[in-house]
Amino acid sequence: MSIPKITQEVKDITRIERIGAHSHIRGLGLDDSLTARASSQGMVGQRTARKSMGIVVHMAREGKIAGRAVLLAGPPGSGKTALAMGLAQALGSETPFVSIAGSEIFSLEMSKTEALTQAFRKSIGVQISEETEVVEGEVVEIQIDRPLDKGAAGAKTGKLTLKTTDMETVYDLGAKLIDNLQKEKVQSKDIITLDKATGKITKLGRSLGATGDFDAMGASTRFVQTPQGELQKRKEVSHTLSLHEIDVINSRSQGFLALFAGDTGEIKSEVREQIDLKVAGWREEGKATIHPGVLFIDEVHMLDIECFSFLNRALESDMAPILIMASNRGITRIRGTDYQAPHGVPLDLLDRTLIIATEPYSDEEISKILEIRCEEEDVAFTEKAKTLLTKICTTTSLRYAIQLITASSLVAQKRKAYEVDMIDLKKVYELFVDVKRSTQFLKDYQNEFMY
Ligand code: ATP
Repeated sequence: MSIPKITQEVKDITRIERIGAHSHIRGLGLDDSLTARASSQGMVGQRTARKSMGIVVHMAREGKIAGRAVLLAGPPGSGKTALAMGLAQALGSETPFVSIAGSEIFSLEMSKTEALTQAFRKSIGVQISEETEVVEGEVVEIQIDRPLDKGAAGAKTGKLTLKTTDMETVYDLGAKLIDNLQKEKVQSKDIITLDKATGKITKLGRSLGATGDFDAMGASTRFVQTPQGELQKRKEVSHTLSLHEIDVINSRSQGFLALFAGDTGEIKSEVREQIDLKVAGWREEGKATIHPGVLFIDEVHMLDIECFSFLNRALESDMAPILIMASNRGITRIRGTDYQAPHGVPLDLLDRTLIIATEPYSDEEISKILEIRCEEEDVAFTEKAKTLLTKICTTTSLRYAIQLITASSLVAQKRKAYEVDMIDLKKVYELFVDVKRSTQFLKDYQNEFMY
């Protein structure tokens, strides 16, 4: 199986519009002792939940996460998604983070368990390391046995005499070496590294006489003693792919390019079994390291009993990512059954879940969140308009109030005002109704609507 040499960020961002709503979140806003600062990294209040999420970050970093699940439970707009985004930021780009909504699982293109399997495998990073023999040194002689002009016939061999720290070696890598020498415009006295496996040459600089420190490759290097007693320098190159990407590459005839082909469709279970065996082999040989990431399932109450059974089973795998679920429902029916359960999640799954509760915000916290959002959207509000927006938020919802920020700034711009004032806010409040008023409208005019 050939693995492409790319460093792929395994994060999957499926819901762009939701991400926009959380663009002000830059982490969990915790100090070194995991205590939540009042307002930091875009995060306000919800201090207990933030601290708990900090512990989850530690568990994820230490890889102590297989089989664990976390449920963020709380009313709408209490920051569950924001907390998950904060966690993703705190983990850094090394740790895979995949975010889906429960309802996304149900599509015509693939079965729900296939969609969940793909989400799971997207959140498992496989770091594959390869060792190549690398020689570094000063070029003291370039000897090429063919004319350098393009297309010219001649013997396709090239020799490069490298003076390294401990030895002087002549390498003969044929046409590949000549091409690379030309491409990199290598001359005598250049300091280079030469990858003996691929013939790749990297120019590090010019020799000024003394031998320099060549560790400019950004990769770890080590010396290996060959059976002939020769010292060889080895460079470790590693790339991280998600397990799902490895599945895709191996299930499509176009291989690596399949990653760019859009929809991946269903993947046969035999392919996955083969990949799992292959990865297990690489792990044993020390060539691969598994990085279980985070799978975030928002609106988890939208899943049905079959999906929950799948999650229960999937969590047993030793490669399982940490599963973070969120729900704003109370005691509700588990989809696909006649049973009620807290958050619509079966008790056996709840039992193995760490539940983190999110609470409603105080007026002061709401006001601070709105202020941060105004800054993020680059909108200035007068003091009075700010107070009114906070008031609107307490009678409607945080999301609705956030939506009004840009809308009211457009209205203010129309009257050529620099700051949003009460008048602009009142206007957009009338133009766009919140859920409560919309429901009332439906009740008032229900006879006029279609059934
Ligand atoms: P729902 O149950 O409806 O999905 P939720 O609990 O996931 O809601 P969010 O979507 O996270 O709520 O919050 C609504 C908006 O308020 C988002 O823009 C979010 O970034 C912001 N927000 C919520 N809590 C905080 C917080 N503690 N600090 C900063 N911003 C927050």
